[in-house]
Amino acid sequence: MDATLARDWMRAAATAIAADTDRLTRLDAAIGDGDHGVNLHRGFTAVVAALEKSPPETVSEVLVKAGTTLISRVGGASGPLYGSALRAAGKALPATAEVQPSDLVAALHAGLEAVRRLGGAAPGDKTLIDAYGPALDAFEKAVAGGAGLAEAAGAAASAAEAGAEATVPLQARKGRASYLGKRSIGHQDPGAASTSLIFQALAEVA
Ligand code: ADP
Ligand code: MG
Repeated sequence: MDATLARDWMRAAATAIAADTDRLTRLDAAIGDGDHGVNLHRGFTAVVAALEKSPPETVSEVLVKAGTTLISRVGGASGPLYGSALRAAGKALPATAEVQPSDLVAALHAGLEAVRRLGGAAPGDKTLIDAYGPALDAFEKAVAGGAGLAEAAGAAASAAEAGAEATVPLQARKGRASYLGKRSIGHQDPGAASTSLIFQALAEVA
């Protein structure tokens, strides 16, 4: 991956979120406050604008800038969580023009670690971690088996989607949805759904 591909990834994520803003908002209306689609649409629109204004030259800088932008532009829980994940992932990468799939494995680990540190959620708590964790596992396994970026990202996207769907029967233990207790059961977690879109965007551009 180079900086151009990283920017394409962020742009594809913004496009996917724009197309699914209403769905994400509906999911959040069911078990939260109905702002997830709008939050991320605003945030990723700002990310694309920031990356176009002064295009970074490394993947590391693209991800750090994207993360910083999300933190400053998204008020909900998801802004700091996604923003910290992208910043941590960017900082974990070498400052080279190109990074390898194995570098991205380490970066994705750093991103997940940042989400867990900030939000304190564990797997099964019905959060975006339940899509991110399986996606990272699939990505790492594919890379360990010799897959290139496209194949590994495809595996990650499928695992993220399955992970997001698997949040439906879970009871939320973190975030706003946890206030609903058992009534959070039977709905897909909006953050897991948007995480799936972000991995799908990576698979598309790769
Ligand atoms: P808010 O809950 O502040 O309205 P959003 O609606 O934008 O923020 O985002 C909600 C999503 O954020 C949830 O669906 C969940 O995936 C994720 N989330 C919330 N709290 C946590 C947490 N502590 N750890 C991980 N993810 C979380
Ligand atoms: Mg919300």
